[in-house]
Amino acid sequence: MSVHTEDTIVALATAQGIAAIAVIRLSGEDSIRITQQCFRGKDLEAQASHTLHFGTMVDDGRTIDEVLVAVFRAPNSFTKENAVEISCHGSPFIVKEIIKTLLKHGARLAEPGEFTKRAFFHGRFDLAQAEAVADLIHAETDNARQAALNQMRGGFSKEIDHLREELIHFASLIELELDFGEEDVEFAQRDDLRKLILKIQTVLRALIDSFDQGNVIKNGVPTVIAGKPNAGKSTLLNTLLNEDKAIVSDIPGTTRDAIEDEIILGGINFRFIDTAGLRDTSDVIEAIGVERTKERMKKASLIIYLFDLANTTLEEIETQRKELITLGIPFISVGNKLDKAEPSLLSKLQDHDFTFISASDKTNVGVLKEKLLARVQVKEVKTGDVMVTNLRHYQNLLQTYDALARVLDGMSGGITGDFLAMDIRQALHYLGEITGTITTDDLLDNIFSKFCIGK
Ligand code: GDP
Repeated sequence: MSVHTEDTIVALATAQGIAAIAVIRLSGEDSIRITQQCFRGKDLEAQASHTLHFGTMVDDGRTIDEVLVAVFRAPNSFTKENAVEISCHGSPFIVKEIIKTLLKHGARLAEPGEFTKRAFFHGRFDLAQAEAVADLIHAETDNARQAALNQMRGGFSKEIDHLREELIHFASLIELELDFGEEDVEFAQRDDLRKLILKIQTVLRALIDSFDQGNVIKNGVPTVIAGKPNAGKSTLLNTLLNEDKAIVSDIPGTTRDAIEDEIILGGINFRFIDTAGLRDTSDVIEAIGVERTKERMKKASLIIYLFDLANTTLEEIETQRKELITLGIPFISVGNKLDKAEPSLLSKLQDHDFTFISASDKTNVGVLKEKLLARVQVKEVKTGDVMVTNLRHYQNLLQTYDALARVLDGMSGGITGDFLAMDIRQALHYLGEITGTITTDDLLDNIFSKFCIGK
């Protein structure tokens, strides 16, 4: 495995930029010794774990800053290694100088996610829990925070491990049959195996189905505002954003794409995608039917389609709605410019499930927000709820489910034990990858490289 735990690693653990304080973190056998060589104050190597010490960081006799040093001794640290946290003044220059000095004395810069990777290798938590640490840091809503916290505390992992244990029991019985070769023995009762697989599939199905909600909770709802030029799209976007603009932090190394416009309604993050064009007044060729608009709409899970009530006939509205339906993406029909609409048009649209608003006057924007929320229908996440929020876990659960379906098919077709064993082993493999019982370098690199440096 590509983890060099003999090295002592160092990184800034707090955000880049000027702040009141910054925390520099070290982990590894020599972290206390290396810090001591750059520190004037008490002898850190003689100090107990979980103690805090005031002193100065020095480089060749030159004082860099006054600091507080926290000492953690293996195995009682996040990584289970010797570890140090240096709180200094939050100047990027000071941080750089302190890290440079530590490097000079034998530390090396940490790779992204290397602290968490070490914690994983030393058994502090499993892979799903390590991923939850990243999710927790990136949580932007209370639901996302609670879902990540539940996963970090291992509820999901326990469920997966439990399923695996049950399957392993059967797998070993079937493998035993194979050892007997020609003799026609069946240690693993096929009926019991079938029952077990059906039971496991029921649990898997519930987890797989929970991803619909879990994904919305973790990643929000990609939403597009569409409609013909001058329908009022950018006016609506501004009205929505001015009222509920989400406060998002731009954390380097996040796995998310560039931060888009977002609003949080009822604990759900609605992410308005491709809104740059809406602000660009030169973008006048926007209309349904235009390829680019269609491309934008295809990226969405939900479309807010605006009809300009002041300038659109009933026939045009019906044509556009038909085109929208063919896209197959859920949409909300919104009639804008209610203040200028003909009453006759409004009455004809009454039974078309329209939301009438005036984006510039903010009339009925609250009703539109309620419609948005009603479309998503997410329950509040409670402590201990087990749900899948991670695409990787979701895919592995699907693969496990399919492998088990093959076992069931195989048994109905009277397939021999060696083929059954193969599919059961596959199911175990996919399940094991979720919590990291089974790992490969590629899998780990893929997961941890998405973490920030210092995490
Ligand atoms: P877009 O091209 O779809 O982004 O449309 P804009 O948001 O730029 O709006 C086009 C024009 O319609 C602007 O002059 C807006 O002020 C106006 N507008 C937007 N919403 C309303 C509304 O509810 N009522 C009225 N009367 N005008 C509106």
